Amino acid sequence: MVRSIVEKLQDVLGQEKVLTDEFTLKDRRRDYWMLSQLDDMQGRRLPNPACVVRPTETADVVAIVNRCRENGSPLVPFGLGSGVCGGVKVNPQTVLLDMSVMNRTRQLDIDNLLVTFDAGVRGADAEAFLEKNGLTTGHYPQSIDLSTVGGWVATRAAGQFSSAYGCIEDVVVGLEVVLPSGEIFSTRMTPRAAAGPDLKQIFLGSEGTLGVITAVTFSLRWKPEKRTMSAYYASTMEEGLELQRYIIQSGWTPPVMRLYDASEVERNFPDYKQGKDTLLLLIHEGPAARVDAEVAACTFLASNQGCTLAPSAVVEHWYRERNHVPSFEDLIKKGIVADTIEIAATWDRIGTIYQNVVRSLREVQGVVVASAHSSHCYRSGINLYFTFAAIPQNPEKMADIYRECWHRTMKETVAGGGGISHHHGIGRIRRDWLPAEIGETGMTMLKSIKKVLDPTNFMNPEVLIYG
Ligand SMILES: Cc1cc2nc3c(=O)[nH]c(=O)nc-3n(C[C@H](O)[C@H](O)[C@H](O)COP(=O)(O)OP(=O)(O)OC[C@H]3O[C@@H](n4cnc5c(N)ncnc54)[C@H](O)[C@@H]3O)c2cc1C
Repeated sequence: MVRSIVEKLQDVLGQEKVLTDEFTLKDRRRDYWMLSQLDDMQGRRLPNPACVVRPTETADVVAIVNRCRENGSPLVPFGLGSGVCGGVKVNPQTVLLDMSVMNRTRQLDIDNLLVTFDAGVRGADAEAFLEKNGLTTGHYPQSIDLSTVGGWVATRAAGQFSSAYGCIEDVVVGLEVVLPSGEIFSTRMTPRAAAGPDLKQIFLGSEGTLGVITAVTFSLRWKPEKRTMSAYYASTMEEGLELQRYIIQSGWTPPVMRLYDASEVERNFPDYKQGKDTLLLLIHEGPAARVDAEVAACTFLASNQGCTLAPSAVVEHWYRERNHVPSFEDLIKKGIVADTIEIAATWDRIGTIYQNVVRSLREVQGVVVASAHSSHCYRSGINLYFTFAAIPQNPEKMADIYRECWHRTMKETVAGGGGISHHHGIGRIRRDWLPAEIGETGMTMLKSIKKVLDPTNFMNPEVLIYG
């Protein structure tokens, strides 16, 4: 008798690691993507996977990968499902690989400021562990309570303090990855190497398509001696963007640099609205003398630019509320379809992209909010985080309007020479736009890597690389 994939997995892992109860299957069917949530809530219920497997060690992952490959069963890795681009979606044949209980701290190496976590460690738990030792990764995405360190790597995440500490690629020193072949790839622990291309980079942003990340080693930093907050009003987004360019190109690096347009100031900081339209929030961290010098320098640059000081209480307000956002479920119940879309561009292009995307989004029927803020700043450019919300008269149109808003944002970004994703990844929603980002030659390279690593395409088959 032919044994099913569920039975084969139970043979090697035991029943307790292979779950088939309705609650678990339903809970792990999808990520946080707005379109999947809309489907569920509007009666187009997404299917359950064949089973949810919960490995606790790398050897389990190897066994799962081998069984799925031999059986031709799609295998979809899952961290905590906070992805917002449709990276996790299943069909009744899918084996859902839930990494969230593979969550031990493997090693803390204080002399070398390194820590290695299992990939399923929740971000907030990783930080809580480090904090007890006076250490930090410096990587704090808004979803830190809802996401895993492996998920951060798989999506090329960015944290709220990235302007000084960098994004995930700047804090990850090493990886352990189970390849689709069942082999284990792991990087050597050296601070840098010139030994050919950096192979671990292939897995940063691979979204479960090229292997299962099983461990992540971070480079750490000591908690800063001092933290100060400052804020400035600018008349326009262009003026605020220009101030950020001056600050960062002068060599100052406040880890938090966030510029909100007039619409977002009205929505998020109504008590701090004051004549001028946009607000720049900064957090300065580090050795006390450097922090003091940075605040003085930023204040000087701001006044040179015609920007005025805002109360630093507005930054404290942001910091307190930074991880509180309305749930998509609540919005959908109110008939609102919404999303945030992050893009990036060089300094000379970002202002035009901002104007064109916001204008284009406002032309979509039912759109009541089209706004943006920047939150990740670089010497050569910056990101923008667009928010749109629409209240269609006919709820059946919610998905169409959602797709239209995404289409317009991607189209204007590409036309303006920007990059289609700053940190949420490709998933399903950006798949069609990937060739515009990396070109046909880039697509051929990516597909070739996929073909070599996963010739039968069983790993997260509909994500990122498709068709
Ligand atoms: C409220 C909210 C705020 C957010 N804020 C931020 C933010 O500030 N910065 C940011 O970058 N993102 C943010 N996100 C997006 C999301 O949290 C990130 O993409 C996060 O990195 C996903 O981690 P996860 O563990 O939840 O992964 P999941 O959502 O479970 O998976 C994401 C993708 O990675 C793959 N994957 C997961 N784990 C592994 C693994 N171990 N090996 C191989 N593939 C794997 C999955 O197959 C999927 O394709 C936010 C999301 C929400 C809902």
